[in-house]
Amino acid sequence: MPTYEYHCASCGKSFEKIHAMSENPDVICPECGAKALRQISGGAGIIMKGGNTQGSCCGIDSPCSDPKRCCEK
Ligand SMILES: [Zn+2]
Repeated sequence: MPTYEYHCASCGKSFEKIHAMSENPDVICPECGAKALRQISGGAGIIMKGGNTQGSCCGIDSPCSDPKRCCEK
């Protein structure tokens, strides 16, 4: 099964979770217990079409953990 990277917007922790591609589980941050958001890995080639992705931003074809900060550069 593929490994997905999750990022907690609450405390900023990033961690990996393994689950099936078809699954979209609620992943809880191990640090603070908040719900974490899945990062789109640039290497995996997994692209969610038609929705807001956490992956690329500002035309940069790589994941960024903080789109706002990324876009301000
Ligand atoms: Zn957290």
